[in-house]
Amino acid sequence: MAIVDQNLSQKAIDLENEYGAHNYHPLPVVLEKGEGVYVWDVEGKKYYDFLSAYSAVNQGHCHPKIVDALSSQAKKLTLTSRAFHNDILGVYEKYACEYFGFDKILPMNTGAEAVETAIKICRKWAYEKKGIAENEAKIIVCENNFHGRTTTIISFSNDPVARKNFGPYTKGFIKIEYDNLEALEAALMADSNIAGFLVEPIQGEAGVYVPSEYYLQKAKALCEQYNVLFIADEVQTGIARTGRLLATCGNCTCSNKNCSGTPEVKPDMLILGKAISGGVYPVSAVLANDDIMGVIRPGNHGSTFGGNPIAAAVAIAALEVVKEENLAENAERLGKLFRDKLEAFIPTSDLLLGVRGKGLLNAILINDTEESDTAWNICLKLRDNGLLAKPTHGNIIRFAPPLVMTEEQLLDCVSIIVKTITEFEK
Ligand SMILES: *Cc1c(COP(=O)(O)O)cnc(C)c1O
Repeated sequence: MAIVDQNLSQKAIDLENEYGAHNYHPLPVVLEKGEGVYVWDVEGKKYYDFLSAYSAVNQGHCHPKIVDALSSQAKKLTLTSRAFHNDILGVYEKYACEYFGFDKILPMNTGAEAVETAIKICRKWAYEKKGIAENEAKIIVCENNFHGRTTTIISFSNDPVARKNFGPYTKGFIKIEYDNLEALEAALMADSNIAGFLVEPIQGEAGVYVPSEYYLQKAKALCEQYNVLFIADEVQTGIARTGRLLATCGNCTCSNKNCSGTPEVKPDMLILGKAISGGVYPVSAVLANDDIMGVIRPGNHGSTFGGNPIAAAVAIAALEVVKEENLAENAERLGKLFRDKLEAFIPTSDLLLGVRGKGLLNAILINDTEESDTAWNICLKLRDNGLLAKPTHGNIIRFAPPLVMTEEQLLDCVSIIVKTITEFEK
């Protein structure tokens, strides 16, 4: 039996290897089913999912309410394109604008597309509202950013693997150190053609770097002072992941009464993706107020699938689930518990150097060099012990389970992690 089962996984992996481009390096596990915080492989082994498809599945796998929204809309109307109106897009747009506290939303499909959209809006705003001379607008970004994979976005990445041999690169970006207000102010002061500041409230891909307290508030204030748009990429941090509806908080309608966050900061443009659909369908969006979104007029921008009826139905359901199931509160409470438990383990461990994060977006640091494969090998062991996670950069492992997790399940996961690292130290 075991031998036959092994073949099932290996066959699936071989097929991907033979016919799929090798643009990923997946953990060797082949999944066929998901429910809530769990996934099952083709051999029937059950795992805790501690990645949640990079925080796209915050509402848990195959959430029945979201899947119902998908299937009932799919039987009625799937795609009209924006050449015609449909009866659900406006309903979604109103719902999302009120939910996040903005005048307007521009619907797209993937996170990278939404980032591209924000860049285009920012540039157009700079020429038409701020009065920057054509083709001169610049956008400040941060070192070690991750905003997606398009040609323009990788142009301002500093990850050599993502960039090398994809040039020539798009101009108009200035890179500064993350979490460094002096660098931001110096960049704003040095150049009068700055249109925007694009930033992740927590750098997820880079290894879950949480900036200092008040960094975002002070950065926003600097942007206001220099008439520069503050653009928050919350594709990964948004939708309750960090213990609040948005990591920037904003004037969204988060219901977390125990929110321990610093005071709200409202971005001029908010970029959302991933969990806005609960991981059921590609849905992304840019939100802004009329003074900014008003620069976009018919023909300026678009997408055949952006704002399609299925996306609208799925996103409404996914956003409702976040409130109905108090996912922001749950993420905040369980995140604290998770970090407390692992911090208590650090003094007894040679391998675990630290744990950091916010809500249920966390990472552990492994005591080894950047180049070592220790973090990868720990992830293989975690898999064997029933928990799926992946290293981000070098010796950092990101832990981001679905937010529908219970306390009992989280404690079970903590013991799997502690047991695995302990086994490793022997
Ligand atoms: C994942 C991610 C993106 C890109 O989203 P895709 O849907 O993969 O294009 C952009 N920004 C951040 C912060 C992300 O985590």
